[in-house]
Amino acid sequence: MSCNIDLHSHSTVSDGQLAPAELVRHAASKGVRVLALTDHDDVGGLREAMQAALETGIVVVPGVEISVTWNGHSVHVVGLKIDPEFAPLRAGLQRLRESRHARAEAMAHSLARAGIAGSLEGAYAYATPGGVIGRVHFARFLVERGVAKDVRSVFKRFLVKGKPGYHEHRWASLEEAIGWILGSGGIPVLAHPGRYALGRTTMLRLLHEFRELGGQAIEVVTASHPMEQIPYFARLARQFSLLASVGSDYHGPTHGGLTMGHLPELSSICVPVWHDWPEASV
Ligand code: AMP
Ligand code: MN
Ligand code: MN
Ligand code: MN
Repeated sequence: MSCNIDLHSHSTVSDGQLAPAELVRHAASKGVRVLALTDHDDVGGLREAMQAALETGIVVVPGVEISVTWNGHSVHVVGLKIDPEFAPLRAGLQRLRESRHARAEAMAHSLARAGIAGSLEGAYAYATPGGVIGRVHFARFLVERGVAKDVRSVFKRFLVKGKPGYHEHRWASLEEAIGWILGSGGIPVLAHPGRYALGRTTMLRLLHEFRELGGQAIEVVTASHPMEQIPYFARLARQFSLLASVGSDYHGPTHGGLTMGHLPELSSICVPVWHDWPEASV
C-alpha cells in the first residue's frame, strides 16, 4: 500500500515544472487524496491550486517551504495549513525572494569566472516572472548549455559548496521561519532531515532547537532522502515527540526524483501530522 497523502510539492511558482492547477490535476490522477503545495519562499500558487482542488475533488493543503540558515547550514522548514494572507509571513517571504535576486547575480558571476556566460538571463528564462529564482533554474540552463546531462548531474559539479555557481547565502533564521508559520496558524515541519550533511550530535541539536522554538513535525517519509533512512527518522520523531510527515518533494515529470503517488506508508510508531485533520480521515 502506498500513502495517498503527499505534503510536499513544488509548482512553477518556485522550481517545479507544472503550474499549480496542472500539479493538482497530476496529483489527483496519481491517486493522491491530500496534497500540500509547498513552493520555496512563496505562497503565490496557492489560490490557483485551491481552485483546481475544487474541480478535481482532491484536498489541497496551503503550504510553503521556507529557506533557513541554521548554524551555517541551509535547512528547509515546511509550513502546513498556513494562512497565506498573514502579513508577517508575507513580508518575511518577500524579503527572502528579494534576496534571491542578489544571490542569482553572485551565482552568475561565479559561473562566468568558470567560463559559462549568460547564466543570469538563462536561469531567469526558466523562472516564472514575479516568482522565485533559484539553483534549479540555473541547473536547467546548464543542462540546456550541454555542460551536464540532467539537473541531478549539474548538482554534482556546480551550484554546491566549493563548486562554480555556489554562493553562500543567509536565509531566514530558524526562529523567524517557525514564528511566521505558527503566527499564521500553520504547522512547522522540518523538511527532509536526511538531506542535511549533519553528524548525529548536530542533528540532535537541530531537532532539539526546532522543537524548543515551536516546531511540531519532521518529514519521515520523503523522496528527498534515501528510503533506508526512514526507520532512523521515524525513531527520532518518536524520541522528540514530533509528529511525522510524508512528502514526495515532487518537482515535475522530467525533473528526476520520485513520481507522485508512490510513497510508502508511515510506520505505526509515528503519529502522522494529519492525525487530527478531518479532511485527511478516510
Ligand atoms: P535553492 O533554494 O535556490 O538553493 O535551491 C534548492 C533546490 O535545489 C532544492 O529544493 C532542490 O530542488 C534543488 N537541489 C538542491 N540540491 C540538489 C541536488 N543535489 N540534486 C538535485 N536537486 C537539488
Ligand atoms: Mn526545489
Ligand atoms: Mn527542500
Ligand atoms: Mn522541496
